[in-house]
Amino acid sequence: METRLTSAGSRPRLLKKLNRALVMRIIREQGPKSRAELARSTGLSDPAVLKIVGGLIKDQLLQEIGEGDSTGGRKPVMLDINPDGAFAVGVDLTPEFIRAAVVRLDFSTAAEATVPIDPGEGYDSLLQHMRTLIENVINESQVDKRKIIGVGVSHPGVMREEADRILLASNLSSLENMPLVEDLQRHFQMPVVLEVDARASALAEMWLGEARGIHNFLSVDIDVGLGSGLVLNGNIYRGVNGLAGELGHMVIDPDGHPCACGKKGCLETLVAFPAIIREAMRNPGPILKKYCRENPPPVDIDCILEAVEHGDASAVRSLRGSAQALGMALGNLLNFIDVSTIFINSKLAAYKELYLQEIHRTLSRYFLLTNEMPIKVLPSSLGRKGEILGMAVLVMRPLFQAEPESAMAAA
Ligand SMILES: [Zn+2]
Repeated sequence: METRLTSAGSRPRLLKKLNRALVMRIIREQGPKSRAELARSTGLSDPAVLKIVGGLIKDQLLQEIGEGDSTGGRKPVMLDINPDGAFAVGVDLTPEFIRAAVVRLDFSTAAEATVPIDPGEGYDSLLQHMRTLIENVINESQVDKRKIIGVGVSHPGVMREEADRILLASNLSSLENMPLVEDLQRHFQMPVVLEVDARASALAEMWLGEARGIHNFLSVDIDVGLGSGLVLNGNIYRGVNGLAGELGHMVIDPDGHPCACGKKGCLETLVAFPAIIREAMRNPGPILKKYCRENPPPVDIDCILEAVEHGDASAVRSLRGSAQALGMALGNLLNFIDVSTIFINSKLAAYKELYLQEIHRTLSRYFLLTNEMPIKVLPSSLGRKGEILGMAVLVMRPLFQAEPESAMAAA
């Protein structure tokens, strides 16, 4: 991997930051390296590598892990990321629960905790839940608090990147226009970043999952809502107002079911969990009645899926209906955004034949290049953990990538 850094040559501090990030990035992406190998893959001189590596070891971001194979001469000392050199707190805020984890520099999890919430809860109560949960998970992890470099919170709303505010969150409306970032920052005295949940999981897929090396893809989140993270040319695409990827509120039937956003017949009302539950319970058969009877109302998706596993016809039909509605929308969308792969991030993705293949079959009918360019529909490799990991990536990314995103894509 050759990276030219000549344009930064006149700015020593920036150059140092870029070179440190370059070394960290190469080791993260390619595994342990010796100093000599680092000099070769970065194009930097041996003395420069010695200095950079020395600094990274002193800051505990890199560690020596023993000797590697010799290519004649002395065995080289290998260097790897020090997992305990820095930490991020990733938080996944959903209408049903908040989950938080302390994530190490190698993106393994040091501790994780979840608290259920009510989507109707007010902002102050949500903030309190979040603060307590984060404090608990930090304590439980027993990590050195001074090494936690930030908190990242994923949420199911719409936000502008620069605004630090959630503009719209139809499934968790008490968050709208609230100073969540300021409040958490003041409390924890560390940087706090927000990101849309589907974009966080797309980012995690790109850094840690099956999307490594895929530069154009869509990651679709299906739960009580429906959203997506769009990656174009290796970068998350946000759009001018942060709306890009808002798949769920594409109106399919103006006279259809009411949607949480206030409109009728949005795609979300045909695809997301409430739609599957509604359709399955419309005319429940004996199996569905058996599995969903003991569930306290409202019926949740898990009992519907249990009925699917036991062959209940209306539950199966309802799941297939969701896949078909999504497949049709994606087929149309593909003609417009032209990406190669679609990741489905949802517990529904476990139903490979019934759900994923149904999406694929349907979208293939609408995508113009079906015969020439087979589209891949894959389950997300990280599952619901993607949101937390994606937020940890967002917090720790500057250690690995000092360049702006667009420069990375051009590299
Ligand atoms: Zn809607």
